[in-house]
This record gives sequence, C-alpha cells and structure tokens, in this order.
Amino acid sequence: MKKPFVTKEQIEEIAKTYPTPFHIYDEKGIRENARALYKAFSWNKGFREYFAVKATPNPFIMKVLQSEGCGFDCSSLTELMLSDDVGAKGHDIMFSSNATPDADFKKAFELGAIINLDDFTHIDVLDKLTGIPETICCRYNPGGEFKTDGSPNVMDTPRDAKYGFTHDQLIEGYRILKEKGAKKFGMHAFLASNTLTNDYYPTLAGILFRTAVEIKEKTGVQLSFINLSGGVGIAYKPDQPQNDIAVIGEKVKEQYEKILVPAGMGDVAVFTELGRFMLAPYGMLIAKAIREKHIYKEYIGLDACAANLMRPAIYGAYHHITVLGKENAPLDHKYDVTGGLCENCDKFAVDRMLPKIDIGDYVAIHDAGAHGFSMGYNYNGKLRSAELLLREDGSVKLIRRAETPEDYFRTFDIFNKDYDL
Ligand SMILES: *Cc1c(COP(=O)(O)O)cnc(C)c1O
Repeated sequence: MKKPFVTKEQIEEIAKTYPTPFHIYDEKGIRENARALYKAFSWNKGFREYFAVKATPNPFIMKVLQSEGCGFDCSSLTELMLSDDVGAKGHDIMFSSNATPDADFKKAFELGAIINLDDFTHIDVLDKLTGIPETICCRYNPGGEFKTDGSPNVMDTPRDAKYGFTHDQLIEGYRILKEKGAKKFGMHAFLASNTLTNDYYPTLAGILFRTAVEIKEKTGVQLSFINLSGGVGIAYKPDQPQNDIAVIGEKVKEQYEKILVPAGMGDVAVFTELGRFMLAPYGMLIAKAIREKHIYKEYIGLDACAANLMRPAIYGAYHHITVLGKENAPLDHKYDVTGGLCENCDKFAVDRMLPKIDIGDYVAIHDAGAHGFSMGYNYNGKLRSAELLLREDGSVKLIRRAETPEDYFRTFDIFNKDYDL
C-alpha cells in the first residue's frame, strides 16, 4: 500500500501558510534513496550519479542531492545555469542534450561540463564553436530493438529514437575525437524509460561494456567512464513490484567483471543519470477537493489541474491518490478526479475507487516528485504552484513560491497595458 509521507494534520497546518495546491518533497526519503544507490554501486571506484535536472529543477532539491555526492545532468542553457548557481563545478555537470543550440554548447564548455555529444555531426559543430574539450562523451544508439535479459521483458525500439550515434559512427567518432586532441572519453546510452525490472541496467551495461571493448580494439581509445543514463523506473501502482537498486548494482557488477575486467578495463567508472528513480516517490502534489458533480458519472473537482501534473493527461499515467485522513476508510466510491482545465483529459484519475470524498478534503497525489512540477505549464492561465520541502526534522521550507498573475503577465510588461495595434 502506498502511504503518504505527511498526515492530514500536517497538511492542515501547512495549508494555513501555503494554500493548496502545492508540491511537497520528502528530504529524508530523497537522502535515504540516494544513499542506497551509492551503496549499490560502491564496488565501482569512480561511480557517480548525475541527477537529471529536468525531472525536478529546483536548486534546493539539487543541493540535497549534491550533499549526497550527486552531480547534475543538464540538457539546456537554463539547467546549466541552475547547476552553476548551486555550485556545481566542471565535471560535476554532464551535458546530455540534443539538437543543441550554439549558446548551450558554449555555456557547457565555459562551465567545463562533460559534454555528451548526441550526434556525429556535432563533433564538427563543437570543434568550430569551442574546440574539442579534453574530456568528451558520445551518446550511443545501437538501433534495432532493445529487449532486456530475464523476465519480465522490457522492450523498446532504439532504431526509432532520435538520439545518439550509430554503431559505425561511434567507432569513427572516437577516432576523430582522439585525432582532435581529446584525452578522456565516455560513452552514454538511454534505451528504455521507466523500466520496472532489475534487468534494465544490467542488460544495457552488457551492451555498452562489450561496445567499449570493441572501441578499444578498433581505435585504441580506452573509455574512462560509461554512463548508463536514466530509465530505472518506479512502481506508480501499489501492486507493481519495486525495482531493487541493490540487486541492480550487483547485476551490473557481474557484467563489469565478466566483460570489462578481463579486457584490462577494470578502472572504467560507471555513471548514472537518474531522474525519476531519485525523486518521483519523494514528491506529492497536494490538492483540495473544491467541487463535486453528479451527472452520468461522479466527479470530484480539485484546486490542482494538469498544469500542475500533466502525466495523467498526456500519457494516461496512473498516479495513486490518498484522501488524507481517510487512509483506512473503505474504497467504496467510484470517482473521476479532475482539474479545472477546459480539456476533458484533465483527470488525475478515472473510475478510481476511493473513500467518500467531502468538499474540503485534502488529497495526496503520489509519485509526483519527478517529471511533475517541471512539466507544468500555463494553459488556461493556470498558475504554477509552490514547492515545499519537508525537512528531516519535520519542519517545512518553502523552496519555490507559487506563481502570481504578475508572473503570468510579465512577458507583456514592456507594453504597459498599451495594447492598441
Ligand atoms: C530524461 C533523461 C534522464 C532521466 O530519465 P529518468 O527516466 O527520469 O531516469 C537521463 N538522461 C537523459 C539524457 C534524459 O533525457
């Protein structure tokens, strides 16, 4: 059963200062999970997690992860700026972007970030813009279909993905980068998203480790690090099995010892670039039931909407809902739980069995800590909510204020309400 990390009483108290809706994050959960990840990969000397900033781009959350040893994976100019602002330096930053604008490449170079090239043609682009840095990484797309070893299988089709170098481009790419003066090399691949099997990373590692050996044989380039990127998922539904990061770490180690060590590559560092796994379970969207309606179906209207958490609306994604204070009540009412956007897809849950919801009840929408707030938008003129951090001592810190109408209208400021054409 999914249990919220706050009680109704806590939320009632918090809401006196910070009205709903808001996102709240659990510092204790974030730290414990980050430690479990580092423990799982402690067998690898250079291991490092580069938190995927896009999942939860908040400097306070980033500070928490930074203090647990994490670096940051950025894919845009502003994510780079945010990482710089929290004091990330040089190789604390991994820059994995695609269709990269010149300004973003320049910023990444200026910060001394590890640049992960998305494409063969970017070698030339970067060379002309900034020169090739001493440390450089290439993103690999093996094409074809990807299927995990073991069961249950996870399948994806890298050949349809826009990312990365082909196999032959990769080999040629390292050759050219070496010629151009690069000294340290990395490889990166992201082949499946939100995987719910302990076999995703190990299968991916097997592919990348074998490719690393081939690169060494064919080009003489010895990789310094291999970045398994993101994609380790979480169980959004209460009855799904959770990934076990300790098992995942152990199975990656088996591949490492089987493939890299015998090839004399036992000093390659393993990196990860997780977003969802690091944050999703440790953030909830808290909203209040403000309206009800009884037509062909039963509806509960919240003060939050898809603009605060769009995964259900765009992917039909399941997010568990707990009615706070009714954790043990029978699930004997069937509701569509909606937001107020003028879009029929703005539903946090459809035909969900829940306890009877009364107006004024607070609901916790679970697993919103990653790709939640950050995917928010302003459709219908809805404003982005505040973000709060539940500290380990039980206190609550505001880590982003809610947007105001002034924020929303700011890009019209220059006209001073003079809208005559
Ligand atoms: C989105 C992304 C991640 C993080 O993915 P999760 O599924 O959140 O773990 C990591 N690396 C890159 C390049 C990404 O685009």
